Amino acid sequence: MDWTEFAQWGRHIADWGAEYHRTLRDRPVRAQTRPGEIAARLPASPPAGPEEMQTILQDFEDIVMPGMTHWQHPRFFAYFPANAAPPSILAEQLVNTMAAQCMLWQTSPAATELEGVMIDWLRQALGLPQGMTGVIQDSASSATLSAVLTMRERATGYTGNREGLSGKGPLRIYCSDQVHSSIDRACWVAGIGQDNLVKLPGTGPRHGIDADALARAIEADIAAGFTPAGIIAITGGTGIGASDDLAPVLQVARAHDLYTHLDAAWAGSAMICAEFRDDFWRGVEGFDSIVFNPHKWLGAQFDCAVQFLRDPTPQLNTLKIEPEYLKTTGAAVTNYSEWTIPLGRRFRALKLWFLIRAYGLEGLQGRIRDHVAWAGELCEAIRALDGFEITSEPILSLFSFRCPGDDVAQQRLVDAINADGRIYLTQGALGGRRIIRVQVGQFDTTRADVMTVLPVVQEIWKDMA
Ligand SMILES: *Cc1c(COP(=O)(O)O)cnc(C)c1O
Repeated sequence: MDWTEFAQWGRHIADWGAEYHRTLRDRPVRAQTRPGEIAARLPASPPAGPEEMQTILQDFEDIVMPGMTHWQHPRFFAYFPANAAPPSILAEQLVNTMAAQCMLWQTSPAATELEGVMIDWLRQALGLPQGMTGVIQDSASSATLSAVLTMRERATGYTGNREGLSGKGPLRIYCSDQVHSSIDRACWVAGIGQDNLVKLPGTGPRHGIDADALARAIEADIAAGFTPAGIIAITGGTGIGASDDLAPVLQVARAHDLYTHLDAAWAGSAMICAEFRDDFWRGVEGFDSIVFNPHKWLGAQFDCAVQFLRDPTPQLNTLKIEPEYLKTTGAAVTNYSEWTIPLGRRFRALKLWFLIRAYGLEGLQGRIRDHVAWAGELCEAIRALDGFEITSEPILSLFSFRCPGDDVAQQRLVDAINADGRIYLTQGALGGRRIIRVQVGQFDTTRADVMTVLPVVQEIWKDMA
Protein backbone atom coordinates (compact mmCIF):
# COMPACT_ATOMS: atom_id res chain seq x y z
CA MET A 1 0.00 0.00 0.00
CA ASP A 2 1.39 3.41 -0.89
CA TRP A 3 0.72 6.52 1.18
CA THR A 4 -1.78 7.94 -1.30
CA GLU A 5 -3.92 4.84 -0.89
CA PHE A 6 -3.32 5.02 2.86
CA ALA A 7 -4.78 8.53 2.94
CA GLN A 8 -7.78 7.42 0.90
CA TRP A 9 -8.53 4.47 3.18
CA GLY A 10 -7.83 6.58 6.24
CA ARG A 11 -10.59 8.99 5.20
CA HIS A 12 -12.85 6.05 4.50
CA ILE A 13 -12.26 4.68 7.98
CA ALA A 14 -12.82 8.06 9.64
CA ASP A 15 -16.19 8.28 7.83
CA TRP A 16 -16.95 4.70 8.83
CA GLY A 17 -16.23 5.59 12.46
CA ALA A 18 -18.58 8.56 12.48
CA GLU A 19 -21.36 6.50 10.85
CA TYR A 20 -20.74 3.62 13.28
CA HIS A 21 -21.27 5.92 16.22
CA ARG A 22 -24.30 7.63 14.65
CA THR A 23 -26.06 4.28 14.19
CA LEU A 24 -24.77 2.43 17.24
CA ARG A 25 -28.11 2.42 19.07
CA ASP A 26 -29.57 0.23 16.30
CA ARG A 27 -27.13 -2.61 16.99
CA PRO A 28 -27.47 -5.22 19.75
CA VAL A 29 -25.06 -4.21 22.52
CA ARG A 30 -23.66 -7.69 23.08
CA ALA A 31 -22.57 -9.80 20.12
CA GLN A 32 -25.23 -12.39 19.31
CA THR A 33 -22.66 -14.97 18.22
CA ARG A 34 -22.16 -18.65 19.03
CA PRO A 35 -18.67 -19.90 19.98
CA GLY A 36 -16.65 -20.82 16.88
CA GLU A 37 -18.98 -19.06 14.48
CA ILE A 38 -16.51 -16.32 13.50
CA ALA A 39 -13.47 -18.60 13.28
CA ALA A 40 -15.40 -20.96 11.00
CA ARG A 41 -15.80 -18.14 8.47
CA LEU A 42 -12.07 -17.41 8.28
CA PRO A 43 -9.62 -19.17 5.94
CA ALA A 44 -7.53 -21.73 7.82
CA SER A 45 -4.29 -20.59 6.15
CA PRO A 46 -2.83 -17.19 5.27
CA PRO A 47 -3.08 -15.94 1.67
CA ALA A 48 0.07 -16.42 -0.42
CA GLY A 49 -0.51 -13.31 -2.50
CA PRO A 50 -1.78 -9.79 -1.74
CA GLU A 51 -5.48 -9.02 -1.44
CA GLU A 52 -7.29 -5.79 -2.19
CA MET A 53 -8.06 -3.50 0.75
CA GLN A 54 -11.61 -3.28 -0.58
CA THR A 55 -12.00 -7.06 -0.13
CA ILE A 56 -10.40 -7.04 3.30
CA LEU A 57 -12.69 -4.26 4.52
CA GLN A 58 -15.75 -6.01 3.10
CA ASP A 59 -14.83 -9.13 5.08
CA PHE A 60 -14.36 -6.95 8.13
CA GLU A 61 -17.97 -5.79 7.74
CA ASP A 62 -19.36 -9.24 6.96
CA ILE A 63 -17.36 -11.48 9.28
CA VAL A 64 -15.89 -9.38 12.08
CA MET A 65 -18.55 -6.79 12.82
CA PRO A 66 -21.31 -9.29 13.67
CA GLY A 67 -18.96 -10.73 16.29
CA MET A 68 -18.28 -7.46 18.09
CA THR A 69 -19.74 -6.45 21.44
CA HIS A 70 -20.19 -2.68 21.33
CA TRP A 71 -18.44 -1.16 24.31
CA GLN A 72 -19.15 2.35 23.02
CA HIS A 73 -22.88 1.62 22.83
CA PRO A 74 -24.80 4.18 24.92
CA ARG A 75 -26.78 1.35 26.53
CA PHE A 76 -23.72 -0.58 27.71
CA PHE A 77 -24.29 -1.04 31.45
CA ALA A 78 -22.22 -4.20 31.97
CA TYR A 79 -18.85 -4.63 33.76
CA PHE A 80 -17.28 -1.18 33.84
CA PRO A 81 -17.08 1.10 30.80
CA ALA A 82 -14.08 1.18 28.46
CA ASN A 83 -14.69 4.54 26.87
CA ALA A 84 -13.18 6.17 23.80
CA ALA A 85 -14.19 9.81 23.46
CA PRO A 86 -13.70 11.04 19.88
CA PRO A 87 -10.74 13.38 20.57
CA SER A 88 -8.91 10.50 22.25
CA ILE A 89 -9.53 8.30 19.19
CA LEU A 90 -8.04 11.01 16.97
CA ALA A 91 -4.97 11.21 19.22
CA GLU A 92 -4.62 7.43 18.96
CA GLN A 93 -4.69 7.70 15.14
CA LEU A 94 -1.72 10.05 15.32
CA VAL A 95 0.08 7.75 17.76
CA ASN A 96 -0.69 4.71 15.60
CA THR A 97 0.70 6.47 12.57
CA MET A 98 4.00 7.50 14.14
CA ALA A 99 4.22 4.24 16.10
CA ALA A 100 7.00 5.51 18.32
CA GLN A 101 8.37 3.22 21.00
CA CYS A 102 8.67 5.57 23.95
CA MET A 103 10.79 3.57 26.38
CA LEU A 104 13.40 6.28 27.08
CA TRP A 105 13.33 10.07 27.12
CA GLN A 106 15.53 10.14 24.03
CA THR A 107 13.36 7.69 22.08
CA SER A 108 10.73 10.47 21.98
CA PRO A 109 11.30 13.35 24.39
CA ALA A 110 7.82 14.76 23.72
CA ALA A 111 6.16 11.52 24.85
CA THR A 112 8.05 11.50 28.14
CA GLU A 113 7.58 15.18 28.88
CA LEU A 114 3.90 15.21 27.93
CA GLU A 115 3.41 12.14 30.13
CA GLY A 116 4.95 13.94 33.10
CA VAL A 117 2.70 16.93 32.57
CA MET A 118 -0.45 14.79 32.06
CA ILE A 119 0.28 12.92 35.29
CA ASP A 120 0.49 16.26 37.04
CA TRP A 121 -2.70 17.59 35.42
CA LEU A 122 -4.52 14.47 36.61
CA ARG A 123 -2.92 14.70 40.04
CA GLN A 124 -4.43 18.17 40.40
CA ALA A 125 -7.76 17.11 38.86
CA LEU A 126 -8.08 14.26 41.38
CA GLY A 127 -7.15 16.38 44.38
CA LEU A 128 -3.88 14.56 45.08
CA PRO A 129 -1.05 16.33 46.88
CA GLN A 130 1.71 18.25 45.18
CA GLY A 131 4.87 16.20 44.76
CA MET A 132 3.09 12.97 43.83
CA THR A 133 4.45 11.76 40.52
CA GLY A 134 3.53 8.74 38.46
CA VAL A 135 3.62 6.81 35.25
CA ILE A 136 1.15 5.67 32.59
CA GLN A 137 0.76 1.90 32.29
CA ASP A 138 -1.32 -0.34 30.04
CA SER A 139 -3.63 -1.67 32.73
CA ALA A 140 -4.45 -1.49 36.41
CA SER A 141 -3.27 -5.11 36.63
CA SER A 142 0.25 -4.05 35.60
CA ALA A 143 0.29 -1.14 38.03
CA THR A 144 -0.88 -3.39 40.86
CA LEU A 145 1.76 -5.98 40.00
CA SER A 146 4.41 -3.23 40.08
CA ALA A 147 3.17 -2.19 43.54
CA VAL A 148 3.10 -5.77 44.85
CA LEU A 149 6.64 -6.39 43.58
CA THR A 150 7.66 -3.18 45.33
CA MET A 151 6.05 -4.42 48.56
CA ARG A 152 7.99 -7.65 48.22
CA GLU A 153 11.33 -5.99 47.56
CA ARG A 154 10.90 -3.38 50.25
CA ALA A 155 10.00 -6.05 52.84
CA THR A 156 13.02 -8.18 51.90
CA GLY A 157 15.52 -5.31 51.98
CA TYR A 158 15.58 -5.32 48.17
CA THR A 159 17.14 -8.79 48.03
CA GLY A 160 14.34 -10.73 46.30
CA ASN A 161 15.30 -9.76 42.76
CA ARG A 162 18.93 -10.76 43.31
CA GLU A 163 18.69 -13.82 45.55
CA GLY A 164 15.23 -15.12 44.78
CA LEU A 165 12.68 -15.82 47.48
CA SER A 166 13.90 -19.22 48.60
CA GLY A 167 14.67 -19.30 52.31
CA LYS A 168 12.89 -16.03 53.01
CA GLY A 169 9.98 -16.35 55.39
CA PRO A 170 6.49 -15.90 53.98
CA LEU A 171 5.41 -12.32 53.29
CA ARG A 172 1.85 -11.19 53.87
CA ILE A 173 -0.30 -8.71 51.98
CA TYR A 174 -3.68 -7.53 53.29
CA CYS A 175 -6.88 -6.44 51.56
CA SER A 176 -10.63 -6.88 51.77
CA ASP A 177 -12.59 -9.72 50.19
CA GLN A 178 -13.98 -7.23 47.67
CA VAL A 179 -10.77 -6.73 45.69
CA HIS A 180 -10.41 -7.37 41.98
CA SER A 181 -8.82 -10.62 40.77
CA SER A 182 -5.80 -8.62 39.55
CA ILE A 183 -4.69 -8.40 43.20
CA ASP A 184 -4.75 -12.20 43.51
CA ARG A 185 -2.82 -12.61 40.30
CA ALA A 186 -0.24 -10.00 41.28
CA CYS A 187 0.37 -12.00 44.47
CA TRP A 188 0.65 -15.24 42.49
CA VAL A 189 3.23 -14.00 40.04
CA ALA A 190 5.19 -11.92 42.59
CA GLY A 191 5.87 -15.11 44.55
CA ILE A 192 3.76 -14.03 47.54
CA GLY A 193 1.26 -16.83 47.04
CA GLN A 194 -2.51 -16.85 47.33
CA ASP A 195 -2.38 -18.18 50.90
CA ASN A 196 -0.40 -15.11 51.96
CA LEU A 197 -2.92 -12.67 50.57
CA VAL A 198 -5.02 -12.11 53.68
CA LYS A 199 -8.56 -11.09 52.77
CA LEU A 200 -10.64 -9.50 55.50
CA PRO A 201 -14.40 -9.38 55.15
CA GLY A 202 -15.76 -6.11 53.80
CA THR A 203 -18.17 -4.64 56.36
CA GLY A 204 -20.55 -1.72 56.79
CA PRO A 205 -22.53 0.12 54.15
CA ARG A 206 -19.54 0.39 51.79
CA HIS A 207 -18.23 -3.13 52.39
CA GLY A 208 -14.84 -1.80 53.50
CA ILE A 209 -12.04 -3.25 55.63
CA ASP A 210 -12.51 -3.00 59.39
CA ALA A 211 -9.27 -1.28 60.46
CA ASP A 212 -9.29 -2.92 63.92
CA ALA A 213 -9.62 -6.36 62.37
CA LEU A 214 -6.81 -5.45 60.00
CA ALA A 215 -4.54 -4.41 62.88
CA ARG A 216 -5.34 -7.64 64.74
CA ALA A 217 -4.61 -9.78 61.68
CA ILE A 218 -1.23 -8.08 61.20
CA GLU A 219 -0.28 -8.47 64.86
CA ALA A 220 -1.29 -12.13 64.87
CA ASP A 221 0.77 -12.73 61.73
CA ILE A 222 3.84 -11.07 63.22
CA ALA A 223 3.47 -13.23 66.34
CA ALA A 224 3.23 -16.30 64.10
CA GLY A 225 6.47 -15.43 62.25
CA PHE A 226 5.11 -13.94 59.05
CA THR A 227 6.45 -10.70 57.55
CA PRO A 228 3.74 -8.19 56.64
CA ALA A 229 4.71 -6.40 53.42
CA GLY A 230 1.80 -4.23 52.35
CA ILE A 231 -1.86 -3.31 52.30
CA ILE A 232 -4.03 -2.95 49.19
CA ALA A 233 -7.13 -0.80 49.59
CA ILE A 234 -9.93 -0.23 47.11
CA THR A 235 -12.10 2.67 46.11
CA GLY A 236 -14.88 1.24 43.96
CA GLY A 237 -14.50 -2.54 43.82
CA THR A 238 -15.68 -4.36 40.74
CA GLY A 239 -18.58 -6.33 42.19
CA ILE A 240 -20.60 -3.68 44.01
CA GLY A 241 -18.22 -0.72 44.27
CA ALA A 242 -16.90 -1.64 47.74
CA SER A 243 -14.76 1.17 49.13
CA ASP A 244 -12.42 1.14 52.08
CA ASP A 245 -12.28 3.93 54.61
CA LEU A 246 -8.79 5.07 53.61
CA ALA A 247 -7.57 7.07 56.61
CA PRO A 248 -7.92 4.29 59.25
CA VAL A 249 -6.37 1.73 56.88
CA LEU A 250 -3.46 4.07 56.36
CA GLN A 251 -3.02 4.50 60.09
CA VAL A 252 -2.58 0.75 60.49
CA ALA A 253 -0.08 0.73 57.61
CA ARG A 254 1.93 3.50 59.23
CA ALA A 255 1.98 1.74 62.59
CA HIS A 256 3.63 -1.28 60.94
CA ASP A 257 5.65 0.53 58.25
CA LEU A 258 3.76 -1.18 55.42
CA TYR A 259 3.71 -0.10 51.78
CA THR A 260 0.22 0.87 50.58
CA HIS A 261 -1.45 0.60 47.19
CA LEU A 262 -4.93 1.86 46.32
CA ASP A 263 -6.93 0.27 43.50
CA ALA A 264 -9.31 2.94 42.20
CA ALA A 265 -9.29 1.61 38.63
CA TRP A 266 -12.92 2.52 37.99
CA ALA A 267 -13.94 5.02 40.67
CA GLY A 268 -10.78 7.12 40.43
CA SER A 269 -12.21 9.01 37.45
CA ALA A 270 -15.11 10.26 39.58
CA MET A 271 -12.66 11.96 41.93
CA ILE A 272 -12.33 14.79 39.40
CA CYS A 273 -15.61 15.87 41.05
CA ALA A 274 -14.60 17.39 44.39
CA GLU A 275 -17.96 16.56 46.01
CA PHE A 276 -17.20 12.80 45.94
CA ARG A 277 -13.80 13.10 47.60
CA ASP A 278 -15.11 13.61 51.12
CA ASP A 279 -16.89 10.28 50.95
CA PHE A 280 -14.37 8.19 49.06
CA TRP A 281 -10.96 9.81 49.03
CA ARG A 282 -10.23 10.98 52.59
CA GLY A 283 -6.69 9.88 53.47
CA VAL A 284 -5.73 9.20 49.87
CA GLU A 285 -2.75 11.56 50.08
CA GLY A 286 -0.91 9.09 52.30
CA PHE A 287 -0.98 6.16 49.88
CA ASP A 288 2.34 5.12 48.38
CA SER A 289 0.79 3.98 45.10
CA ILE A 290 -2.62 4.67 43.52
CA VAL A 291 -3.95 3.32 40.24
CA PHE A 292 -6.89 4.54 38.18
CA ASN A 293 -7.86 3.87 34.58
CA PRO A 294 -8.72 6.96 32.54
CA HIS A 295 -9.84 4.47 29.88
CA LYS A 296 -12.73 3.39 32.06
CA TRP A 297 -14.93 6.28 33.11
CA LEU A 298 -12.94 9.36 32.09
CA GLY A 299 -13.12 8.76 28.33
CA ALA A 300 -9.53 8.07 27.25
CA GLN A 301 -9.28 5.50 24.48
CA PHE A 302 -8.42 2.03 25.84
CA ASP A 303 -5.76 1.37 27.11
CA CYS A 304 -4.59 3.88 29.67
CA ALA A 305 -3.91 3.27 33.37
CA VAL A 306 -2.29 5.92 35.54
CA GLN A 307 -0.24 4.91 38.56
CA PHE A 308 0.50 7.74 40.99
CA LEU A 309 3.47 7.34 43.33
CA ARG A 310 4.16 9.33 46.49
CA ASP A 311 7.85 8.54 46.06
CA PRO A 312 8.95 6.62 42.96
CA THR A 313 12.19 5.43 44.59
CA PRO A 314 10.94 2.10 46.03
CA GLN A 315 9.37 1.12 42.69
CA LEU A 316 12.49 2.21 40.78
CA ASN A 317 14.64 0.22 43.19
CA THR A 318 12.41 -2.75 42.37
CA LEU A 319 12.06 -2.46 38.59
CA LYS A 320 14.88 -0.34 37.21
CA ILE A 321 17.44 -2.24 35.16
CA GLU A 322 19.96 -0.61 32.87
CA PRO A 323 21.75 -2.88 30.42
CA GLU A 324 24.45 -1.22 28.33
CA TYR A 325 22.30 -0.63 25.26
CA LEU A 326 19.72 1.33 27.26
CA LYS A 327 22.21 3.66 28.90
CA THR A 328 21.74 7.27 27.98
CA THR A 329 24.12 10.13 28.49
CA GLY A 330 23.69 13.78 29.23
CA ALA A 331 21.33 15.66 31.49
CA ALA A 332 19.23 13.81 34.05
CA VAL A 333 16.02 12.77 32.31
CA THR A 334 13.11 10.47 33.15
CA ASN A 335 13.14 7.10 31.43
CA TYR A 336 9.67 5.77 32.20
CA SER A 337 10.50 2.19 31.18
CA GLU A 338 12.48 2.02 34.43
CA TRP A 339 9.23 2.50 36.36
CA THR A 340 7.36 -0.45 34.82
CA ILE A 341 7.67 -4.11 33.91
CA PRO A 342 7.51 -3.90 30.09
CA LEU A 343 10.39 -2.11 28.37
CA GLY A 344 8.46 -0.96 25.31
CA ARG A 345 5.85 1.72 25.82
CA ARG A 346 3.21 3.31 23.64
CA PHE A 347 2.67 7.06 23.58
CA ARG A 348 -0.44 7.08 25.79
CA ALA A 349 -0.18 10.62 27.10
CA LEU A 350 -1.31 12.17 23.80
CA LYS A 351 -4.89 10.95 24.12
CA LEU A 352 -5.13 12.35 27.64
CA TRP A 353 -3.92 15.72 26.37
CA PHE A 354 -6.49 15.74 23.56
CA LEU A 355 -9.28 14.51 25.84
CA ILE A 356 -8.73 16.94 28.69
CA ARG A 357 -8.30 19.91 26.38
CA ALA A 358 -11.26 19.07 24.13
CA TYR A 359 -13.75 18.87 27.02
CA GLY A 360 -12.05 20.75 29.82
CA LEU A 361 -12.36 19.31 33.30
CA GLU A 362 -15.87 20.76 33.52
CA GLY A 363 -17.03 18.81 30.49
CA LEU A 364 -15.70 15.57 31.97
CA GLN A 365 -17.09 16.33 35.43
CA GLY A 366 -20.53 17.04 33.98
CA ARG A 367 -20.71 13.58 32.43
CA ILE A 368 -19.73 11.82 35.63
CA ARG A 369 -22.24 13.82 37.71
CA ASP A 370 -24.99 12.95 35.22
CA HIS A 371 -24.10 9.27 35.32
CA VAL A 372 -24.22 9.18 39.12
CA ALA A 373 -27.57 11.03 39.17
CA TRP A 374 -29.16 8.81 36.48
CA ALA A 375 -27.93 5.61 38.17
CA GLY A 376 -29.62 6.81 41.38
CA GLU A 377 -32.84 7.53 39.54
CA LEU A 378 -32.86 4.15 37.82
CA CYS A 379 -32.12 2.42 41.12
CA GLU A 380 -35.20 4.03 42.71
CA ALA A 381 -37.35 2.99 39.76
CA ILE A 382 -36.19 -0.64 40.06
CA ARG A 383 -36.68 -0.58 43.84
CA ALA A 384 -40.31 0.36 43.22
CA LEU A 385 -40.93 -2.72 41.04
CA ASP A 386 -43.03 -5.32 42.79
CA GLY A 387 -40.88 -8.09 44.26
CA PHE A 388 -37.58 -6.62 43.04
CA GLU A 389 -34.86 -5.99 45.61
CA ILE A 390 -31.91 -3.57 45.59
CA THR A 391 -29.02 -5.75 46.78
CA SER A 392 -26.39 -3.00 46.92
CA GLU A 393 -27.12 0.71 47.13
CA PRO A 394 -25.55 2.96 44.50
CA ILE A 395 -21.86 3.55 45.04
CA LEU A 396 -21.23 6.39 42.60
CA SER A 397 -22.97 5.02 39.47
CA LEU A 398 -23.02 1.29 40.33
CA PHE A 399 -25.80 -0.64 42.06
CA SER A 400 -27.20 -4.15 41.94
CA PHE A 401 -30.60 -5.77 42.18
CA ARG A 402 -32.45 -9.09 42.17
CA CYS A 403 -35.70 -10.00 40.50
CA PRO A 404 -38.16 -12.24 42.35
CA GLY A 405 -36.91 -15.84 42.39
CA ASP A 406 -33.76 -17.83 43.08
CA ASP A 407 -30.22 -17.56 41.69
CA VAL A 408 -31.20 -19.44 38.56
CA ALA A 409 -33.91 -16.88 37.86
CA GLN A 410 -31.36 -14.04 38.15
CA GLN A 411 -29.09 -15.66 35.58
CA ARG A 412 -31.99 -16.44 33.28
CA LEU A 413 -33.04 -12.79 33.39
CA VAL A 414 -29.50 -11.53 32.63
CA ASP A 415 -29.13 -13.98 29.75
CA ALA A 416 -32.52 -13.09 28.29
CA ILE A 417 -31.78 -9.35 28.56
CA ASN A 418 -28.47 -9.75 26.76
CA ALA A 419 -29.97 -11.97 24.06
CA ASP A 420 -32.54 -9.23 23.50
CA GLY A 421 -29.69 -6.81 22.82
CA ARG A 422 -31.24 -3.43 23.66
CA ILE A 423 -29.18 -3.14 26.84
CA TYR A 424 -26.24 -5.04 28.33
CA LEU A 425 -26.02 -6.03 32.01
CA THR A 426 -23.77 -8.49 33.83
CA GLN A 427 -24.22 -10.60 36.93
CA GLY A 428 -22.21 -10.69 40.13
CA ALA A 429 -22.26 -12.26 43.57
CA LEU A 430 -22.81 -10.77 46.99
CA GLY A 431 -22.98 -12.73 50.24
CA GLY A 432 -23.24 -15.98 48.30
CA ARG A 433 -26.23 -14.78 46.25
CA ARG A 434 -26.39 -13.95 42.57
CA ILE A 435 -27.01 -10.29 41.81
CA ILE A 436 -27.53 -8.25 38.66
CA ARG A 437 -25.19 -5.28 38.30
CA VAL A 438 -25.96 -1.97 36.63
CA GLN A 439 -23.28 0.64 36.06
CA VAL A 440 -23.74 3.88 34.18
CA GLY A 441 -20.62 5.31 32.59
CA GLN A 442 -20.65 5.15 28.82
CA PHE A 443 -19.44 8.46 27.42
CA ASP A 444 -22.42 9.18 25.12
CA THR A 445 -25.17 7.70 27.26
CA THR A 446 -28.23 9.87 27.92
CA ARG A 447 -30.81 9.86 30.67
CA ALA A 448 -33.23 8.25 28.19
CA ASP A 449 -30.72 5.45 27.49
CA VAL A 450 -30.31 4.80 31.20
CA MET A 451 -34.03 4.82 31.91
CA THR A 452 -34.55 2.29 29.07
CA VAL A 453 -33.24 -0.34 31.49
CA LEU A 454 -36.52 -0.19 33.42
CA PRO A 455 -39.01 -1.16 30.67
CA VAL A 456 -36.57 -3.69 29.19
CA VAL A 457 -36.12 -5.44 32.55
CA GLN A 458 -39.87 -5.37 33.22
CA GLU A 459 -40.83 -6.64 29.79
CA ILE A 460 -38.30 -9.47 29.70
CA TRP A 461 -39.03 -10.52 33.25
CA LYS A 462 -42.79 -10.71 32.44
CA ASP A 463 -42.05 -12.81 29.35
CA MET A 464 -39.97 -15.16 31.48
CA ALA A 465 -42.58 -15.60 34.20
C1 LIG B 1 -11.11 -2.89 35.89
C2 LIG B 1 -10.54 -3.06 37.22
C3 LIG B 1 -9.29 -3.66 37.39
C4 LIG B 1 -8.51 -4.25 36.25
O1 LIG B 1 -8.14 -3.29 35.35
P1 LIG B 1 -7.23 -3.68 34.09
O2 LIG B 1 -6.80 -2.32 33.62
O3 LIG B 1 -8.13 -4.36 33.13
O4 LIG B 1 -6.12 -4.51 34.54
C5 LIG B 1 -8.78 -3.73 38.66
N1 LIG B 1 -9.46 -3.26 39.72
C6 LIG B 1 -10.67 -2.69 39.60
C7 LIG B 1 -11.38 -2.18 40.81
C8 LIG B 1 -11.25 -2.57 38.35
O5 LIG B 1 -12.45 -1.99 38.22
